[in-house]
Amino acid sequence: MSAINQSGWRPEMATREGAAAATFTGNRALMLEEALIFEIGDAKTTGVDFTDVACVPAEAGTQTGLPPSREHKLGNLARTASIGLPGLSEPEAVRHYTRLSRQNYAIDLGLFPLGSCTMKHNPRLNEKVARLPGFADVHPLQPVDTVQGALEVINELAVWLIELTGMYGVAMSPKAGAHGELCGILCIKAALEARGEGHRKVILVPESAHGTNPATAAFAGFQVEDIPATDEGRVDLAALKARLGPDVAGVMITNPNTCGLFERDLKAISDAVHEAGGYVYCDGANFNAIVGRVRPGDLGVDAMHINLHKTFSTPHGGGGPGSGPVVLSEALAPFGPLPFTARHADGHIQLVEEETVGEDHPHSFGRMTAFHGQMGMFTRALTYILSHGADGLKQVAEDAVLNANYVLRSLDGVLDAPFGGSGPCMHEALFSDDNLADGFSTLDVAKGLIDEGFHPMTVYFPLVVHGAMLVEPTETESKAALDQFIGALRSVAERAKAGDASLKSAPHFAPRARLDETLAARKPVLVWKEPPLAQAAE
Ligand SMILES: *Cc1c(COP(=O)(O)O)cnc(C)c1O
Repeated sequence: MSAINQSGWRPEMATREGAAAATFTGNRALMLEEALIFEIGDAKTTGVDFTDVACVPAEAGTQTGLPPSREHKLGNLARTASIGLPGLSEPEAVRHYTRLSRQNYAIDLGLFPLGSCTMKHNPRLNEKVARLPGFADVHPLQPVDTVQGALEVINELAVWLIELTGMYGVAMSPKAGAHGELCGILCIKAALEARGEGHRKVILVPESAHGTNPATAAFAGFQVEDIPATDEGRVDLAALKARLGPDVAGVMITNPNTCGLFERDLKAISDAVHEAGGYVYCDGANFNAIVGRVRPGDLGVDAMHINLHKTFSTPHGGGGPGSGPVVLSEALAPFGPLPFTARHADGHIQLVEEETVGEDHPHSFGRMTAFHGQMGMFTRALTYILSHGADGLKQVAEDAVLNANYVLRSLDGVLDAPFGGSGPCMHEALFSDDNLADGFSTLDVAKGLIDEGFHPMTVYFPLVVHGAMLVEPTETESKAALDQFIGALRSVAERAKAGDASLKSAPHFAPRARLDETLAARKPVLVWKEPPLAQAAE
């Protein structure tokens, strides 16, 4: 009998506390505990063999008798204390990071229901094309004649984005959605200044806006004012019209919005804003729900970012990489950033890098990035677009919306859907904590889902809904995958409604349970300090 069995493991002890007591290592089968690398490594160990170097002050160097090339010339720069890094052998270091990586959730492991994030499968074909040496190995400072293929990709993608959105031009260089918002708002600012109306300082943002919208407007120097939502979860058109005036620079509206609803009044909103002398920024991060079906240009939009890393697959998460091209109306296009691609009559593609006063592009507000943008994401997005074709892209939107409605309706009577009466949802299903048992919250449902093997949905956003749970399945999930997720969410929700106390301490099967996420975000401990006990023992 092994020592582990002698410690008396019983299946019912498979809780965090029980398992830690039950196994010698604290591991549970393939779920491996992992200490900090500093706690594993030991400053006296190293994975690399260095030849000992005689350590002598520089001025004394010539007296060591060593050949001059072996002499150590660092003088008083020579390190006297330990470097403070953990010393590990190569296999120890590899195992540490591999174990940590296995504690991650990923789209390649299962459904990733994060609302507003469009976490969809990234076809391997995209990866194959992005890794072709002709794309992967080019350098942004290469002569333009040697990168015509790469520029062709940028230009071709630009043409598709303009076509799909019905807009006039596109700025390809912004590197993520929020960066694209900044680009669009800077275009609006430049256009107002060119008109001599730089005094327009107010940007109107609906209550349900993604947090990046007000942040962008404020960052660009505008004052942000809220526009209320109707009981239906859409922008209150009358309230918006009432606020328009000579101090308003424009509006920022997400469509489909963060309640997962289509803003049916967007054309009326655009007309009213234009009439009052403002511009319309549309947050297009949710374009996945309408691609191929609706052209924002037809709705009077002046600027809209497209998250290539959401709508057009391309992997994201963990902070990057992203890509947020901004499509622009005829009114704003002249103010867009440099550089951009332009095809000449002979087929040659030029990278327009400088303002050419009196010629092509004299009004550009400047640059968003050093070079032309995220080449790897352009390649992946164009691969995705071309492999779907126009009809396939339309089906993306239809299937994404169908899947979200399947989730919404399958949980009828289980979770409260605050806008369930506002008709079908778009790409995401929104629930509230309304009918959970007293003392049970959205957080408990999210933590329970972790035990079921799912990354939780987006929680507590949008702010207009109490205890919001926002689920976006995307079109890449099969019915079987959706049924499994729905079953898990239903089971956890029923436990929260029945007041099952074990849910309050979930997750029980994850490496860590309920961390103080706010403290971790506000006061991260980024430097490892040797624990006082260990120091005392030395
Ligand atoms: C994701 C998202 C953004 C921000 O995009 P990033 O690429 O993360 O900067 C903005 N608005 C909405 C609605 C989003 O979903």
